[in-house]
Amino acid sequence: MSRVPLIAGNWKMHKTVGEAEALIQALLPRVASLESVEIAVCPPFTALAPMVDSARGSRVAVFAQNMHEADHGAFTGEVSAAMLLDLGVSGVILGHSERRAFFGETDAALARKLPAALTAGLTPILCVGETEAQRLAGETEAHVRAQLESDFAAVEPERYAEVVVAYEPIWAIGTGRVATPAQAQEAVAFVRSVLAERSAEAERIRVLYGGSVSGENAVELLALADVDGALVGGASLTAESFAAICAAARQ
Ligand code: PEP
Repeated sequence: MSRVPLIAGNWKMHKTVGEAEALIQALLPRVASLESVEIAVCPPFTALAPMVDSARGSRVAVFAQNMHEADHGAFTGEVSAAMLLDLGVSGVILGHSERRAFFGETDAALARKLPAALTAGLTPILCVGETEAQRLAGETEAHVRAQLESDFAAVEPERYAEVVVAYEPIWAIGTGRVATPAQAQEAVAFVRSVLAERSAEAERIRVLYGGSVSGENAVELLALADVDGALVGGASLTAESFAAICAAARQ
């Protein structure tokens, strides 16, 4: 089963509009010829509209970093799927570990956000992954299984392949401590096996690895049998390193 790799750059709370513009203008020519790879950048909300304008007609899609599950309402500080679509945004990161840890994002909310994103026509990147303590306690699989089972609870089995899952061990995010290829392959294959229990579409689901991916380690990680791309934080903040990771995903 061949799945088109996706490399997504999570800019987190970095880049003013001017800085984002400089980054995208440096990135676009570097990735213009990478035809067998899907590429997305995920700027902060303030830079979404200008990045959609700047990336129009290019190989680079623009995703948001979060959304609310309701269409509209009294939810101060939140943004709906309809608002993202209105800007020309094509997808959204959901359940990033930083949102789970610092902003109270729950699996119950994600079980509503995932179908809301799909209904709206956005491609969700659902993040799952264990803490270091959970890994050391041998609880990685139980934790990742619980996240997947909760978060996919309201997704129709025939729509599973429209979701992208990012396996991100929390101890590897922003730390420079990348998972070993064996750890990444084992966890990503486990994600697919859990989804296969619920949907016949599991072989078509793209499962990314995230956690300290760099231009140096990307070739090895992206060559793994079940790894269909990467969710990239720090290394997506410069055009050179992000483009190097995109090039490493070329099939
Ligand atoms: C992330 O934020 O999802 C991430 C993987 O960050 P980093 O690449 O910096 O570890």
